[in-house]
Amino acid sequence: MAGNRTFTMIKPEAVAAGHSGKIIDMIISAGYRIVALKYTHLSAAEAGTFYEVHKERPFYGELVDYMASGPIIAAILEKENAVEDFRKLIGATDPSQAEEGTIRKRFAESKAKNAVHGSDSDENAGIEGNYFFSGRERF
Ligand code: ADP
Ligand code: MG
Repeated sequence: MAGNRTFTMIKPEAVAAGHSGKIIDMIISAGYRIVALKYTHLSAAEAGTFYEVHKERPFYGELVDYMASGPIIAAILEKENAVEDFRKLIGATDPSQAEEGTIRKRFAESKAKNAVHGSDSDENAGIEGNYFFSGRERF
């Protein structure tokens, strides 16, 4: 069911720093089941498309360059109330505002390099998951 799924990425700086295993462990320990998982590297054009909703924001160019700067891990995750609970698990966009115990508090470097993405709605979770995964890549 759509309401039970969200989409995440472990962002380039967190992958490069070797945090992927610990982040995936926190996600599974929080009760999420992995529906789909991929290690990939976005081109600047792909990152630009993914973040198109932010194209009028001043940080758009920086965000696109950053998201294309190295490989990422993308995943579809399943759990009851997936989107809202995952936003709680990752914490605030700016890690200095993120609560203790959240993924961003533990691993984010800055507001820009904030370790993980989490969908902000059921609708966007569907769109984002479909951008990365075909039907036969979901289990
Ligand atoms: P979130 O990822 O928490 O949903 P947004 O959707 O507002 O946050 O922003 C998307 C991403 O853009 C953030 O995760 C972060 O990587 C980057 N970003 C947001 N705000 C800024 C900013 N002021 N300066 C640089 N990068 C930013
Ligand atoms: Mg967002």
